[in-house]
Amino acid sequence: MKPIITVEHLRKVYRVGDERVIALNDINLAIGKGEMCCIVGASGSGKSTLLNQLAGLEKPTKGRVLIGKHVISDMSEEELAAFRQQHLGFIFQSYNLLPSMTAVENVALPLMFKGVPRAKREKLARRELKRMGLLSRAGHKPTEMSGGQQQRVGIARAFVAKPAVIFADEPTGNLDSVTTRQVLYTMLQMAKESGITIVMVTHENDLADCADRIVTIKDGRVLSDVLLSDEEKQKNREKLFGDLVTADVAEPETTMKEEKES
Ligand code: ADP
Ligand code: MG
Repeated sequence: MKPIITVEHLRKVYRVGDERVIALNDINLAIGKGEMCCIVGASGSGKSTLLNQLAGLEKPTKGRVLIGKHVISDMSEEELAAFRQQHLGFIFQSYNLLPSMTAVENVALPLMFKGVPRAKREKLARRELKRMGLLSRAGHKPTEMSGGQQQRVGIARAFVAKPAVIFADEPTGNLDSVTTRQVLYTMLQMAKESGITIVMVTHENDLADCADRIVTIKDGRVLSDVLLSDEEKQKNREKLFGDLVTADVAEPETTMKEEKES
């Protein structure tokens, strides 16, 4: 598969007073287009640092990160900001929804940065909320929704502009185990539908089993980089999501109709 993310000899050193923390040490990776890649490892192993480097949120000490042909590790802050708005999506553990905005306004936000006109933004945002089974919550503010609902709004926001890559750092970290599996299942379905690459950090190894690729980090180095076979993936996904395939995350039909008529 053609790589969409390439990492070459990536190194990140933090200075804390007189101390030097080597957070990443000679990381080399190639993540294929359309892959669901999970980054796993113990707390403090360097997962978040790696994700931030891949997404251009922080500069490497040494080495390069490419997304497509773009060398994002060489970009200026302005170039990076524009690149992120055009090509990347983010899902955060703490949801990061704007509290004064409704679900539909939050979801529409990335489209505003892309210059999509208001009526079209709203239409696309509603479509994405509907896919997440949340159309009846379109007018709700974050505080009026459960954690699982807020994270589904966060996912709708990440997917709405069809970015090339979505980055997620422990996106289910604040959710209970049933909601976690629902949220993960939805992310995977939506990514596969649109051919979107996902890079997700998790410290829960059983969640990473749903991935196409599992990268294990230890002490800032790649301990293993495994591409799962189709048989393994099918087996793992059935085990993780089997009971969800029939019990869809979407809300009952009636709720959706009421929403449409109002
Ligand atoms: P993980 O996400 O796997 O828990 P991190 O990537 O957050 O790990 O951290 C990796 C290492 O880098 C840790 O030792 C952490 O303390 C250190 N680190 C992370 N961010 C910073 C920072 N901004 N300044 C100094 N040290 C940091
Ligand atoms: Mg982390």
